[in-house]
Amino acid sequence: MISVALTGGIGSGKSTVAQIFAELGAFVVDADAIARLVVMPGGAAFAGVVERFGPGVVSVDGNIDRKALADIVFADAQARRDLESLTHPAIAAEIARRVAAAPPSCCATVLEIPLLTEITGASIRPQAVVVVDAPEEVVLERLAASRQMTRSEAIARIEAQASREQRIAIADFVIDNSSSLSHLGEQVERVWERLLNLESAP
Ligand code: ATP
Repeated sequence: MISVALTGGIGSGKSTVAQIFAELGAFVVDADAIARLVVMPGGAAFAGVVERFGPGVVSVDGNIDRKALADIVFADAQARRDLESLTHPAIAAEIARRVAAAPPSCCATVLEIPLLTEITGASIRPQAVVVVDAPEEVVLERLAASRQMTRSEAIARIEAQASREQRIAIADFVIDNSSSLSHLGEQVERVWERLLNLESAP
């Protein structure tokens, strides 16, 4: 079974591509969903986050107030590193657990992981990295249409992430998502075939 990491900037089309891979037969693991899970009450990183950042990051319903926490860590690099050192080990352990639970009949696991470029040195060692790439202006238009995010919020998120060039530098395959969904689908199918060939290569 080949292990693939799927990454890309905010709104580049990772989830759309992951869905197509799933339809082609991949076992998809969503690192973002796991990142949310570990900071839920009872999650492996919840208590540590509350201890480090204080009760101000817990909302009245007892969950982490993601907006309050994001405001702190986007403004303070040390706070961001502290949050990462609390959450990354828990996220990596849960990813490993899920990947190990992939059905034996499955030919590829695809880990959808937005921050792969930013967390180099982590314990994620895929056999192939697939990067979804789209021009900033296209991403901003799609995010404006699909999310409750202002243009300036979206730009701030883009600027806090790795650049397109940094992502492409770690890619084995780049999927261009600058145009239609059908063009996207054709490319994903081609990459899928090549991934399966990698698996059968000696
Ligand atoms: P995030 O970083 O926020 O998790 P993402 O990288 O997973 O986003 P998607 O959610 O797949 O990106 O795509 C962002 C939005 O753009 C969605 O509404 C999706 O339906 C739309 N979209 C993606 N690709 C295309 C395309 N080729 N044409 C039109 N709309 C698209």
